[in-house]
Amino acid sequence: MRFAQRVHHLKAEGAYHVLARAQALEAEGRNIIHLEIGEPDFNTAPHIINAAMTAIQKGLTRYNPPSGILELREIIAGQANKQRGLEVRADNIVISPGAKPNLFFPTLCLVGPGDEVLYPDPGFPTYEAMIQVAGGVPVPVPLLEDKDFSFDLETLEGLLTERTKLIVLNSPSNPTGGVIPREDCERIAELAIRHNCWVLSDEIYSRLTYDGLTAPSIAALPGMADRTIIVDGFSKTYCMTGWRLGFGIMPRELAQQVQLMLTHSIGCTAHFTQYAGIEALTGPQSWVDDMVREYQKRRDLLVEGLNELPGVRCKKPQGAFYAFPNIRASGKTSEELANLILEKAGVALLPGTAFGSRGEGYLRLSYANSQENIREALQRMAEVLRQM
Ligand code: PLP
Repeated sequence: MRFAQRVHHLKAEGAYHVLARAQALEAEGRNIIHLEIGEPDFNTAPHIINAAMTAIQKGLTRYNPPSGILELREIIAGQANKQRGLEVRADNIVISPGAKPNLFFPTLCLVGPGDEVLYPDPGFPTYEAMIQVAGGVPVPVPLLEDKDFSFDLETLEGLLTERTKLIVLNSPSNPTGGVIPREDCERIAELAIRHNCWVLSDEIYSRLTYDGLTAPSIAALPGMADRTIIVDGFSKTYCMTGWRLGFGIMPRELAQQVQLMLTHSIGCTAHFTQYAGIEALTGPQSWVDDMVREYQKRRDLLVEGLNELPGVRCKKPQGAFYAFPNIRASGKTSEELANLILEKAGVALLPGTAFGSRGEGYLRLSYANSQENIREALQRMAEVLRQM
């Protein structure tokens, strides 16, 4: 079949291939520990589930505004002002089914054929996909291990041209767990203003940071509110991946344009899930804090264990729930080592190359799994790596 040019570059996320192979091994009776998946292993909290059920029983199961219900947008705006230091209102907020549409649609609204878009490599695979579907030119910017997986700012500056339309940032990052420091945000903001380009700041892991650190939002810096789209959602913070609920915060004019895209594509986000979203944001938060503390323990356990493995060294990530160890000293490529660990140790993880060519020499392990499983995975990996 012949498809339109705009979809020629699309490919499945690396995680799906690994998951399929892991499931095939499980079907053969093998025990597999899953460290490849990017979703919380905790369930959605009961009070959130109850809010959705109450909404369904009340008949809140209908079409609703394409940008989402006003009450939820007002709450998101109020919290963004308090927590991120912004000055936004409900009409700056666009609700979507998951965060992904708020990556894709603003990009489609802003990027045209030939426009260049800078994005992190290694980075979340959707960035490259959305740039290509928009007809833009993907310009990967390396994330450097030596800089705790931030950009080298001179490299970033050198890649900016008069065709640059958008810079994509992701802090805390998938797959590295890196957090962009405030000074770097300030410098990137200066560059974006000087080159008159937009910034799409994917902050979906913003609540998952460790050791008391917070990830600053570039949108709060002077001159940035008019050129920044913040993307966030409920999937990671509130363990609601399958509910499909996310949002974007952006200038009003762009929000109106994105709303038109939503009108003609998805129509609207499910009605009752938005009431679950209200409960998530306004209900108790202590369970989220407990979860973050648990992730921090798992991170420490995993990173310490990885650093004891032969041929592996791992920086301590400051956010998200991923470790991104350097495996160059093993003498194997990322893909070879990921396959070997899956086949021999029964531990599913991802090659760094699933996130771009700069991921070569690294693996991504998700610590959204129990301490018990992480310990067992480390032990199994140690046996395989010591025999190499
Ligand atoms: N952005 C990043 C960096 C992610 O890792 C993910 C999910 O893995 C998303 C966006 C998408 O989130 P959602 O499932 O809410 O669409």
